Amino acid sequence: MTQFHDVTIAGAGPAGLACALSLAENGLRVAIVDPAPETTLAVPSFDGREIALTHHSRDWLVRNGIWPHIPAGAISPLRTARIETGQEAPGNHSAALLFRAPETTSDALGYLVPNHLIRKAIHEVVRERPEITILAGRSVVATSGNRDEAMTLLDNGTLIRSGLLIAADGRFSRIRQTRGIGAIIHDFGKEILVCRMRHPEPHDGVALQWFDEGQTIALLPVADDDQPGHLSSLVLTLDPADIAVLKTMSKAEFDRDITRRTQSRMGDMRLESARCTYPLKTVFAHRFETTRLALIGDAAVGMHPITAHGFNLGLRGQEILCEEIARGDGDPGSTSVLRNFERRHRRATAPLFAATNGIASLYTHDARPALALRKAGLAIAERLTPLKALVTGFLMDRDHAA
Ligand SMILES: Cc1cc2nc3c(=O)[nH]c(=O)nc-3n(C[C@H](O)[C@H](O)[C@H](O)COP(=O)(O)OP(=O)(O)OC[C@H]3O[C@@H](n4cnc5c(N)ncnc54)[C@H](O)[C@@H]3O)c2cc1C
Repeated sequence: MTQFHDVTIAGAGPAGLACALSLAENGLRVAIVDPAPETTLAVPSFDGREIALTHHSRDWLVRNGIWPHIPAGAISPLRTARIETGQEAPGNHSAALLFRAPETTSDALGYLVPNHLIRKAIHEVVRERPEITILAGRSVVATSGNRDEAMTLLDNGTLIRSGLLIAADGRFSRIRQTRGIGAIIHDFGKEILVCRMRHPEPHDGVALQWFDEGQTIALLPVADDDQPGHLSSLVLTLDPADIAVLKTMSKAEFDRDITRRTQSRMGDMRLESARCTYPLKTVFAHRFETTRLALIGDAAVGMHPITAHGFNLGLRGQEILCEEIARGDGDPGSTSVLRNFERRHRRATAPLFAATNGIASLYTHDARPALALRKAGLAIAERLTPLKALVTGFLMDRDHAA
């Protein structure tokens, strides 16, 4: 069986769904394919990720009618970002680099929202659009492109013919590989464990990123619920063998271990969710396009989570692509559309990808000279007001230049 659409998207993750919506806004007919069944796409399960949305991303979700689909009680304002490195005497956490929203605004730096709720909200809006056909429970197994069209073969034998195929199939994108697009893959040799913890001390909207010796810990503020205590998302980076032990130890042992690792700064920690793990590999595709194919989301740029920009850049990428399609001559997969997208998205992502990998490598390297450099770097940055203002502006992302 053959289907015809203006654009085909492989992958109904947040980037693919957002892109389908933007294309529909441009009046295009879109097919979006994902191996997950419709029930999973409609109600994705908790995956541990709390996404720090920039103002730009929040505004995009508002403009596209998605924000009201996210329960207000699940949105947590991020008031301060606090960065620490190495070991202080227990209880002395004063040597830190702090970023706050400018005092002239009452705004937060950003907004933390659980990833599965973002996915659910975008899906609720997408499924109401008649221009979008969701092909759930189906995988893309082969793709090709020529001067005139993109051809996409699904695992049930369906062939989709369209002007453009967009690969939004995640950081280990099979489509990127089979179409011969290489990628810079940086394997940090670590794994990340993410889960929710309850604790007696309030977090006051502070996100902590602590590059400790032998471990990296982030504690991200999560909105309170109706139970006693407060909630944070724990993001713990360790060697894979240590993560495997933590993932399977009893809840009581885990609670004790995390209380010790966090030096009781929030009081006794209690596990409140599933423990989810991710390999720490970052990816930057050598190219974001080839004949009748564009890469977006993590398939194009899979960021290190420390700067919390993967989804934010994924949204930005699909915006750029859709702007170029709207500006073009009506052919969504023309060479000029794809080249302009490539140029603009590379400019928007390459410096940040390189800087993030560099900082992550330095701040997770525990040799003595690196430790000294880390501490000196934080102390200098804390005193450099213009640098802090620049980074704060970047974290909030109010500018629309790309
Ligand atoms: C611990 C952690 C914390 C993070 N925190 C932040 C943060 O604070 N801020 C931020 O902006 N980002 C953050 N990120 C990054 C963010 O989660 C990702 O950038 C984002 O989810 C990527 O979305 P995506 O749609 O590109 O890919 P994915 O979410 O990986 O979706 C890919 C989709 O493609 C589908 N697929 C796979 N193969 C095929 C195929 N052959 N055919 C069709 N479909 C296929 C999959 O089923 C899946 O649905 C974090 C990531 C992690 C791991």
